[in-house]
Amino acid sequence: MSIEWPKLPYSTNALEPHISASTLDIHHGKHHRAYVEKTKLLIAGTALAERSLDDIVSIAASKKRKTTLFNNAAQAWNHAFYWNSMSPEGGGEPRGSLADRIEMDFGSFVHFTEAFKSAAVRHFASGWVWLVFARNKLEIVSTSNADTPIAHGKAPLLTMDVWEHAYYLDYRNRRAEYVANFVEKLVNWEFATGNFQRAACRSTAEPGNHPQDHVPGNRS
Ligand code: FE
Repeated sequence: MSIEWPKLPYSTNALEPHISASTLDIHHGKHHRAYVEKTKLLIAGTALAERSLDDIVSIAASKKRKTTLFNNAAQAWNHAFYWNSMSPEGGGEPRGSLADRIEMDFGSFVHFTEAFKSAAVRHFASGWVWLVFARNKLEIVSTSNADTPIAHGKAPLLTMDVWEHAYYLDYRNRRAEYVANFVEKLVNWEFATGNFQRAACRSTAEPGNHPQDHVPGNRS
């Protein structure tokens, strides 16, 4: 298996007016591509050259000190996940199992969006904000720089890039406007729901882990 720079799942102008073609040209065409190319250079001729990107991130994350390989491989992974977290037909509210689970774990969809927006606006400097499923519960987590939930055994459902390169051309320093448009107009709930269903299935298959273990309203 060799890792590849993935195509965008839509055209570069498909997310306008919320994210411009100029931003996606640079973000996907320069930043994401550079992370993938650097990862390929770093693994060339090593035992990792035949491994999947998920494996490379996990293996690099297991080293005590985060390495150049981890930073580039995780960024390659995070960006591919981010493109799929958005859709030209995105926004609105999830339906079905994920909608029910958001209501159970956050109280309501409105509470969830407030918490997600707040985490994205408050995150200091470069990083990512995620909706994850971990220990049989939904959580909003933010990670700095290249860090990623898959390095911490958490299943990502959705992510938002809060590095300045994700929004500065379109919003300058107005991160809160980018965050609001992402949550209200761009989130690909179908993608997040599929990720949730797979993560919930894996979770219930683990010994001693059952949905009834979850206590509604327990947000600790
Ligand atoms: Fe980025």
